[in-house]
Amino acid sequence: MKKILVLGSTGSIGINTLEIARTFPDKLKIIGLSVNNNIDLLQKQISEFHPCAVAVRDKKSAAELKVRIGNSCEILIGDEGLLELTRCNNYDILLSALVGFAGLAPTIEAIKLKKRIALANKETLVTAGEIIIDLCKKYGAELIPVDSEHSAIFQSLIGENKNNIKKIILTASGGPFLNKNKSELENVTIKDALNHPNWKMGNKITIDSATMMNKGLEVIEAFWLFNLPKEKIEVLIHPQSVIHSMVEFCDGSIKAQLSLPDMKLPILFAISFPERYYFDTINTDFKKINQLTFFEPDFDKFECLKTAYKVIEEGGTAPCILNAANEIAVEKFLSGKIKFTQIPEIIDEALNGVAVKFNADLQTIIECDSATREYLNKKLN
Ligand code: MG
Repeated sequence: MKKILVLGSTGSIGINTLEIARTFPDKLKIIGLSVNNNIDLLQKQISEFHPCAVAVRDKKSAAELKVRIGNSCEILIGDEGLLELTRCNNYDILLSALVGFAGLAPTIEAIKLKKRIALANKETLVTAGEIIIDLCKKYGAELIPVDSEHSAIFQSLIGENKNNIKKIILTASGGPFLNKNKSELENVTIKDALNHPNWKMGNKITIDSATMMNKGLEVIEAFWLFNLPKEKIEVLIHPQSVIHSMVEFCDGSIKAQLSLPDMKLPILFAISFPERYYFDTINTDFKKINQLTFFEPDFDKFECLKTAYKVIEEGGTAPCILNAANEIAVEKFLSGKIKFTQIPEIIDEALNGVAVKFNADLQTIIECDSATREYLNKKLN
């Protein structure tokens, strides 16, 4: 039995993870769950999967949940509760599907316990890539990406010598605004931006897909995960999202991983690796896929993607500033306070206004994240 702790169990990755646990009851056991405040769904998950402990965001949700479930499992609260949940040593795999910077601290706890980290939270590597990779080496923790692109690259690299990589090609759907020109982006609405053509995901990542910041974050994530210079990380628009990413080797051969888009596959792989479990939910029929197309991304239209490459070059805490600014900008866009095209402007403003620190330890990263949020909240209110 593999025992799994799922952080962010009511989000789209969390729900898909539980779907997989439901499919393999003799192989997988859910040990713990964490949510923000969707206790209605959490209550259902608790009665189905019987975790030992759960963590919720605040005291009010905890009290309400307590009334509903009694003493059937331990209820932990807030950031400290989340850390306590990850510190309990009774799991094998941490599936981290938290949204944003909040994913960092619990991931570190699990690394220290030498757990397998199935990482869906990309902000962890974006903000603290160097620290996370070093800690994984130091403690011998396994880091398996859940992001579909990185899972595809990880799978393509099995049995390969990394020195033979010529480049990796991250595919991108291009999001809902692939066919709009730059000036048309001025007036897009929240609803337009949330209307992703291929993937059904949470709001934050869906907006990130519309700005292509999602791909930018993935470039940074790949930079750390696969230890490659940014020149060897290419982005290619592939609207059908069937090729999840590719690796080109020094002899000109290219390996890729393909399937119809469904996050259950990379989640399952991160759990089952090095095994593969029999799973016949996703059946890719090439006879029904009429064409696979590819385009070069428009860096002028998708400024966020360009900025992501720039912060890799800059190094230090620049990616952390980019991430915090993006979280703030997306939040403001989703609450109707700014226009879509202001998202890259706000990110630039933060990168120009907040000092980048080098050789940063974890405390410096946490301070940099807060400093960026404070800087922007002052500027924007
Ligand atoms: Mg992805």
